[in-house]
Amino acid sequence: MSTTVRPLIAGNWKMHGLSAELHEIGAIAASVHARPPAADVLICVPATLLSRAAQIAAGRIAIGGEDCHAEVSGAFTGDVSADMLKDAGAAAVIVGHSERRLHHGETGPMVAAKAKAAWRSGLSTIVCIGESEVQRRRGDALAVCGDQIADSLPQDLARSGTAAIAYEPLWAIGSGHVPTADQIAEMHRHLRTCLVALAGAAGASIRILYGGSVTADNADEVLGLPDVGGVLIGGASLLAVDFDAVLRCVPEALFAPA
Ligand code: PEP
Repeated sequence: MSTTVRPLIAGNWKMHGLSAELHEIGAIAASVHARPPAADVLICVPATLLSRAAQIAAGRIAIGGEDCHAEVSGAFTGDVSADMLKDAGAAAVIVGHSERRLHHGETGPMVAAKAKAAWRSGLSTIVCIGESEVQRRRGDALAVCGDQIADSLPQDLARSGTAAIAYEPLWAIGSGHVPTADQIAEMHRHLRTCLVALAGAAGASIRILYGGSVTADNADEVLGLPDVGGVLIGGASLLAVDFDAVLRCVPEALFAPA
C-alpha cells in the first residue's frame, strides 16, 4: 500500500438493499466508531436508501451513490444528479462501473462528464476501469486500462483533489477469481504512471483501489501491495460482519489507538 495515501475501503451495494437491510449500515458505523481503522470508510448504496443510510451512519462512515447524471437537472426521467445525491447526504459517488458501461452503454467521455459533474457538486468520485477476460488473455490489459484512464477522467483532473480510481478487472467482479498479486501490482504501477503523466504531482496522490471479489481472505495481501490505496467491495460489503472482517485487514499498525 502506498504509505503516503490513507486507504479507502469502499463498499458497493449495487441493486441490493431494502429498508430492512439498513441496520447493516448502522452495524458498520458502530464498528468503525468503536475501533477506528486508519482508513476512510465509504458505503455506496442505491439512491432509494441514501438519505436514510446517511442519517444512520451519522458521520461515522461516509455514504455514497452508485452513479449520477452528468447534467445538473433536466428532462432525464429516472436519472439522479450529483446535486441530488449530495442533497440526500452522499459524500461520494461511483462512476463508470463496468456494469454501467456494459448494461447502459456508458463510454469513457460519458464517465468523464459524470465525474466532472460530481466534483462540481462537491462529491468525491471513484472512477472505475478494468479489462475483460479476453483483453487480459490477449495481453492487452495494460493498454486497455491506460486508455480508459485517459478517456474516463476529466481533463482538469489535477484540480479535482478528491478522485480515486478503482481498477476492477471484469472477470474478477463477483466471480471469486482474483488476479495474482503480481498482476495487481503490475497494473497499479502502470496506472500510477498514467496518472502522473496525465496530472503531474496530483496524479501521484490519487488513490488507486483494487476491486473484484475482495473478501477478508484476500484483503490482507491486496492491501499490502504497492500502489494499492484501498479496495472497492461488492458482495462482501452487504453484511456488516463481512465488511468488518475486511476492515480488520487494514494493517494493525495503521489502526488508530482505541
Ligand atoms: C464491485 O461491484 O465493484 C465488485 C468489486 O464486486 P465484488 O466484490 O462482488 O466482486
